[in-house]
Amino acid sequence: MDLRYWLEEAVASNEAWSSGFGRLREHPSLKVDDARFAAAFATFSERLKDNYPFFHPRYAGQMLKPPHPAAVVGYLATMLINPNNHALDGGPATAEMEREAVQQLATMFGYDTHLGHLTTSGTVANLEALFVARELHPGKGVAYSTEAHYTHGRMCGVLGVEGHAVPVDDRGRMDLDALEELLRTGRVGTVVLTAGTTALGAVEPVDEALALRERYGVRIHVDAAYGGFFTLLAGAEGPAGLPAAPWRAIGQCDSIVVDPHKHGLQPYGCGAVLFRDPSVGRFYLHDSPYTYFTSDDLHLGEISLECSRAGAAAAALWLTFQLLPPTPDGLGQALAAGRRAALRWADLIEKSEHLELYQPPELDIVGYFALTEPLTLSRVDAASARILQAGMTDPVDPVFLSTLRVGAGRLTARHPKLTADADGARILRSVLMKPESESYVDHLHARVEELARA
Ligand SMILES: *Cc1c(COP(=O)(O)O)cnc(C)c1O
Repeated sequence: MDLRYWLEEAVASNEAWSSGFGRLREHPSLKVDDARFAAAFATFSERLKDNYPFFHPRYAGQMLKPPHPAAVVGYLATMLINPNNHALDGGPATAEMEREAVQQLATMFGYDTHLGHLTTSGTVANLEALFVARELHPGKGVAYSTEAHYTHGRMCGVLGVEGHAVPVDDRGRMDLDALEELLRTGRVGTVVLTAGTTALGAVEPVDEALALRERYGVRIHVDAAYGGFFTLLAGAEGPAGLPAAPWRAIGQCDSIVVDPHKHGLQPYGCGAVLFRDPSVGRFYLHDSPYTYFTSDDLHLGEISLECSRAGAAAAALWLTFQLLPPTPDGLGQALAAGRRAALRWADLIEKSEHLELYQPPELDIVGYFALTEPLTLSRVDAASARILQAGMTDPVDPVFLSTLRVGAGRLTARHPKLTADADGARILRSVLMKPESESYVDHLHARVEELARA
């Protein structure tokens, strides 16, 4: 796909449309001369180079990668119009695109009915899910695992509800016995399960937790901000396939959050929240004296806590889904490649004399550490920091990793040969979310092994 060609098409298409309303002369207050623009742009583009190469598989650190060219073209073409998806008055075309894209997300998770919308982020999407949870279970708390994203604890504070952190098992997934003990107190109205934890991509047992919903009358919210699109690999053939049960169970849960700006090939500014019961829209009811005048149809701002939202984000997602739909044969193929890369790397690490796998990757995140001598937590921690730094600053063949702090208890439970001389250690963590990682991972491994040996 030729990005330049399509960007030019986007600009031309906007000009063709806008010229139909009559030409306008640029107002002098907005005029900038080309020479000044060129100078500012030169500085600007130089400053932008102070970045890590997120697009390249040698960047195997955090959850970062550029959007798909279709998303770039969709976003830019729409930004030239700049619709606001708050109301149909603000952008009828992109409101419709948002509805269609959200429907595709709901279908992907197996929701027969839904109410949902895009958000600016997973944070806001989760806030909305917890807000609705509070309205349905006033006075009750929210339970989430200690591996859940920190936003849940913080948003409980914002919403004025009690948050309960539930311990995890040795794979970093919510311990359901501990959850049940908590539910017996009657203090919890909603359980948050994470399908793909941010740290290591652990998938919490959504299927098993569903039984507790009936027994204790709680809501179940699934935070699949990171992992959601992996549902496309549930039950798939081949090494990338995932155990189907927890993913199939998501379709029975009360609400779901997924971030198209993580695994949906979108630029930042694209999260989503879905509710299984459309009647929760009543909690959003408000009157706006400013908007909602062109149509009696539901405006997206009437079912959202945010007001202004980029219509361009919806357009970018819609255009991307036309080309790479959220199906096993569409977007699923891109996720499968990243997952195969993670499995391949885990295999190489397991055979290595210099690196140790922290735990088998459940999705596309690999956790590992250097085998130091002596094998103490403080040595492992120092080695992680050194490898991270040395990898990034290598002038010839850099690699970009990230670190993850793990407590001593969990580290030594999983790796009894580690001596706990500190209360925890940083390990190395690589998110292999680019399909290109699959053909690069052998080199990546060789480089990290070299760094570990040094
Ligand atoms: C990334 C993430 C969030 C926060 O989403 P943002 O889009 O960064 O605001 C919440 N939960 C999980 C599991 C995540 O991975």
